[in-house]
Amino acid sequence: MRYQPVMGLEIHCEMLTNSKVFCSCQNEFGGGENTRVCPRCSGMPGTLPLLNKGAVKLAAKAGFATNCTVNNYSAFDRKNYFYPDLPKAYQITQFESPICTDGYIDVVGGKRIRINRIHIEEDAGKLVHDDYEGVSMADYNRCGVPLIEIVTEPDFRSVEEVQDFVTQIAQRMKYAGVCDARMEQGSLRVDVNISLMPIGSDKFGTRTEIKNLNSVKSIGRAIEYEIKRQADILDDGGEVVQETRRYNDSQDNTKSLRSKVEAHDYRYFPEPDIPPVVFTDEEIEEIRKEMPELPQERFLRYTEGYKIPQEDAKLIIAQKEFSDFYDEAVKITPEYKLIANLMLGEISHQLNDREMDITAVTFTPANMAKIAEMAAGGVVSKGSAKDIIIIMFDKGGEPEAIAKDNGFIMDNDTSGLDEIIDKVLIEQADAVEKYKNGNDKLFGFIMGQAIKAAGKGANPALIKEALASKLK
Ligand code: ADP
Ligand code: MG
Ligand code: ZN
Repeated sequence: MRYQPVMGLEIHCEMLTNSKVFCSCQNEFGGGENTRVCPRCSGMPGTLPLLNKGAVKLAAKAGFATNCTVNNYSAFDRKNYFYPDLPKAYQITQFESPICTDGYIDVVGGKRIRINRIHIEEDAGKLVHDDYEGVSMADYNRCGVPLIEIVTEPDFRSVEEVQDFVTQIAQRMKYAGVCDARMEQGSLRVDVNISLMPIGSDKFGTRTEIKNLNSVKSIGRAIEYEIKRQADILDDGGEVVQETRRYNDSQDNTKSLRSKVEAHDYRYFPEPDIPPVVFTDEEIEEIRKEMPELPQERFLRYTEGYKIPQEDAKLIIAQKEFSDFYDEAVKITPEYKLIANLMLGEISHQLNDREMDITAVTFTPANMAKIAEMAAGGVVSKGSAKDIIIIMFDKGGEPEAIAKDNGFIMDNDTSGLDEIIDKVLIEQADAVEKYKNGNDKLFGFIMGQAIKAAGKGANPALIKEALASKLK
């Protein structure tokens, strides 16, 4: 490869407001076609937009989550273009004065990616092409859904940096309560701008923009494809055409969608029907104070506060609901490592096998805490703790009752244990002999026999202790 790829991102996030950005229609995914529309969001002439303050606040929170400056003054503009999914024939957006500017996120390798701006805009509707032969239908439910667009500088040089950035944005928006960040549902949409330049050069090449990326994986595949496509053109002495391309996941290629439209083609002009958004410093500070804990803060709490290994902390934090479940459980029983291990072990294993999400389980963080308490206190073994989890997945129930009903409660009474162990030592005289002659591995075998003889409720720790003193 003789070329250095250069990338910049434009990320759209649908914000979690109750109503749309300029009218009182419900803001929710799905619903029957054109059931969430009113004269305002369907572009009837003469209607006026009314700015949703909640959307402005969430956009400011997106800025705080990405180290941006939240501006005292921001204003709206009209971006004019005609398309059947946009009944007004213009989109209300922020062009000259966006709400947030100058942020950054650090990605893999310690590289800092600068965020140019975050602005508020309205979403367009959806065209449905597949339901009727030869006819396209317009569904305006999505018209006026509040969006933010996060625009980065062209600072990315590798697929890994892009993927890490998108993952972090999704997590931060989710934790900040801005967006549910479901790429597969389109609530977080990433456009990748990409160009190549000869290695060693600092003059950027002509870029293309790839749309229609609906997972972090497909972002990687689309970039790889586009790098190769542009490299082939340049190798043949050709020129890359500045255009928008669509990525097709099933065919793993990008196809030209339209030639690039320049800003002046949109005839941007100030939106006359919405007053500018003016915040005092105090008002901005008030919003900052309302920021919930962000993933990077939670990571520090887990690793430094709870001494959870970094990789484990990352895995827990990856899904906010999973991490919230963990937080609720450790609030009740602060067995930080044990609960982390059970959740990343048996719970995750069961969730995967059953293709389930933590939000769908019928047991509670309190149940989880109880299991950890019993395992840590030697009431049940760690192995039984896993069995209790499986039973809760299968048929529900309270951990204590499950432990009792299944004979998991360990017999911590050592009387009788002596006799059992002595019997095992006689039965396994051969192994005992070899162990005493230096075959250390046989301890585990003898221990296994003793546990078997002691029965289901046996406490492995006590057996080990007794055995060790007898074999000394
Ligand atoms: P426009 O206004 O024409 O859309 P912007 O300056 O807003 O251009 O850039 C849009 C996106 O393209 C940004 O994410 C930016 O980082 C990225 N970008 C700009 N130039 C290049 C380039 N030469 N190669 C790759 N990405 C680029
Ligand atoms: Mg742009
Ligand atoms: Zn409406």
